[in-house]
Amino acid sequence: MIYHSVAELIGHTPLLALDLPTPNHSQILAKLEFLNPGGSIKDRLGQMLIEGGIAAGKIVPGQTTIIEPTAGNTGIGIALAAQRYQLPVKLVVPEKFSQEKQTLMRALGAEVINTPTAGGMTAATKRAKELAATIPHAYVPNQFANPLNPAAYQRTLGPEILADLGPQPLTAFVAGAGTGGTFAGTAQALQAAEPAVHTVAVEPAGSILNGGPAHPHRTEGIGVEAIPPFFDQVRIDDTKTISDEAAFAAVKRAARELGLLIGSSSGAALVASLEVAAELPAKSTIVTIFPDGSDRYLSEGIYD
Ligand code: PMP
Repeated sequence: MIYHSVAELIGHTPLLALDLPTPNHSQILAKLEFLNPGGSIKDRLGQMLIEGGIAAGKIVPGQTTIIEPTAGNTGIGIALAAQRYQLPVKLVVPEKFSQEKQTLMRALGAEVINTPTAGGMTAATKRAKELAATIPHAYVPNQFANPLNPAAYQRTLGPEILADLGPQPLTAFVAGAGTGGTFAGTAQALQAAEPAVHTVAVEPAGSILNGGPAHPHRTEGIGVEAIPPFFDQVRIDDTKTISDEAAFAAVKRAARELGLLIGSSSGAALVASLEVAAELPAKSTIVTIFPDGSDRYLSEGIYD
């Protein structure tokens, strides 16, 4: 088969049955989102924000400048989707996030503006809004509040998982939460098809979903400073809080035992999925998401 644009390569990632001993002989199936062309689950969101913005008349090619605060993967997804319409893109990224992701954003043609690490995503969001006020025809998609964020996953990832499973019943869905868009949108689609599916959100220790306390963490891409607004639209049965140590140990285990080069949010999802397997009845089917790969974290010593 011949494809005619990178946009056609987004989504339809494989659902891999992990060849690991699991509690209760359950099966853990991981959606390999690092196989998207920009290397992460956020290619789906970038495409939805740009194409949805154009459809709604908020983005006009030849006129609009896109400005977005991002930890990285959404920025790469936006830069990739914006290229198609030759839209200028400015991404506001806190300094601490991986240099590889910032290099990839620039390679795709985006301008990267750094904010101090100490201010976190809150300071990056503020800077993006300030910048937008100084540029005519600027548009800030704002992934943290834009309903297109969960919609991207409700319309693509959720239905793909159901199609991948075919007649096999789904017991549980386990996924990390940053903006919460992936979890909320996918869980909504899965709950509509299988109302009894057990949904589990995953956060790193240092995030506040299970009551905190808030502190910095090394696991990148997940963790929240406030409850995501998208969580209002979905039932959450449990939240697992995973330590950085456990997430990074799982990253190394996945490489050595499964040949999977996953990032730390995927490591946290794997640890949480094994915990969920121990709690569910025998022979459950657990679907989880591996949002990105390890190659964008090598300079941070992901395997050290
Ligand atoms: N993992 C990684 C590596 C990410 O970049 C993101 C996006 N922040 C997530 C997980 C979580 O996705 P969401 O923002 O949809 O909750």
